[in-house]
Amino acid sequence: MVLWIGIDDTDSLQGMCTTFLATEIVRDLTQDFDLIGYPRLVRLNPNIPWKTRGNGAVCIRIGEGEGPGSIVGSIAGRFIVSYRRGRTPQGMEAVAKRVARLVECWSRFEDPTTNPAFVVLGKQPTAGLYWKAVRGVVSKRYARVVSQGRGLMRPYKNGRGLIGALASVAWRPHDRTYEILTYRAREAWATNRQIDPGSVVRMDRAFPSTFNNYDYQTQQVVIAPHSPCPVLFGIRGDDPSILPAAMNLIEGERPERWLIFETNQGTDDHVSGGPPFGSWSTVRWSGAVQSLPRILPGGHVVVRVANLDFTAYEPSKQFRSVVRKLVPGDRVQAVGAMRRRPRTLNLEKLLVESTVDVPQKVANPWCSRCQKRAKSMGHQAGFRCVRCGKRFPVSAAIFAQIGRGLLPGWYEPPVFARRHLSKPLKRMHPKFTRDRVAQNELQKEPSVGVPPLPVQESVSRAREK
Ligand code: ATP
Repeated sequence: MVLWIGIDDTDSLQGMCTTFLATEIVRDLTQDFDLIGYPRLVRLNPNIPWKTRGNGAVCIRIGEGEGPGSIVGSIAGRFIVSYRRGRTPQGMEAVAKRVARLVECWSRFEDPTTNPAFVVLGKQPTAGLYWKAVRGVVSKRYARVVSQGRGLMRPYKNGRGLIGALASVAWRPHDRTYEILTYRAREAWATNRQIDPGSVVRMDRAFPSTFNNYDYQTQQVVIAPHSPCPVLFGIRGDDPSILPAAMNLIEGERPERWLIFETNQGTDDHVSGGPPFGSWSTVRWSGAVQSLPRILPGGHVVVRVANLDFTAYEPSKQFRSVVRKLVPGDRVQAVGAMRRRPRTLNLEKLLVESTVDVPQKVANPWCSRCQKRAKSMGHQAGFRCVRCGKRFPVSAAIFAQIGRGLLPGWYEPPVFARRHLSKPLKRMHPKFTRDRVAQNELQKEPSVGVPPLPVQESVSRAREK
């Protein structure tokens, strides 16, 4: 048994990051308590319109550690040790006072959209709260009611942060990944980040259990945010034990502190199981393609599948070319966010289950009497031999099966356009993706050893923290 601390909605677009506040809380509380397990970065419904960036909340567990400890971070020159299990410590009120002091010191209260909250609980709220918060919409009242009697809740301003704070504590992972987050020295905040792209490529290749590091097609570093927040970079992966070594391979600006978080990123937890689908939900939709794709102004591509429009937006870049190649009759399955007006599914990834044969006319009918090819009489009007006048139906033309340039399989947007919660194909089908990644690398081998660039310039749409 441990004390569960949940925090949310402390930052703004102008600065700060709830995970940085988490490092301050860990730094303070580990002077008197033990950290139990990894701190948790829990992403919630990515379609909620009132999120600041990535809709992330944080949960930290403290207690009296039992058994051997392991290093999960370094803050202000001190290693942070975590224990797998722990006993509940005394003094929930005193812990809450210390957390309150830090939340009040670091939160962006001046931002009208920031509504911080923290909780200190002796028992997790029901798991259903997490699932509702990651897939649907939760009211403050519902979050409070299902968490009643489990500890202290401290909302500020309109108290909306309580939803995320409680939901982060309610998370019981069935799938999980890890992220090592590194932070900048205070004097560097809001300046350009210096990260050597060549070192990111080397790290990505050296540690195959990491993901979403670098976009080989556009040669973009994706481990660094481009907001003025304190994060320097974050490396995501399946194996927490290699993350410190991966971090050490990154060259450029040195982090002031680092901490490994256990997360629900890259798990697809946000994808609803089945209908009925609520507002702002992410769903799975499958069926046959009904129409040829349309290209909208701005480069977005729309295709109709089983009475629903699927849209691949311009920022998903080369992913749109997969959608453009679909033809009526192809069978697909998609994962995407349901948008009400206009009613469409914003594509997050696409499985091409099967493709239909598309015969293409390769020659006009042959007039054996004149030893000549007949001429077309216009669209769907058939053919006529210009010498003898013999007529041929449309079906008399010579057709052949032409390669579609579209293989069955999963497709996903480039690394920089993916959602935090989207399970990358690399995690879904390790072998399949290894082969495809290998192909991409052969075709688009990036030049390693490119000189360090300010990340602000080298990243067009990098990771949102
Ligand atoms: P971060 O920047 O830390 O990645 P964020 O800043 O994008 O996250 P917040 O500032 O935490 O997001 O704002 C999201 C707000 O929405 C919080 O107050 C949170 O409690 C609330 N919230 C999150 N998920 C839901 C949900 N499913 N239903 C209702 N409210 C939610």
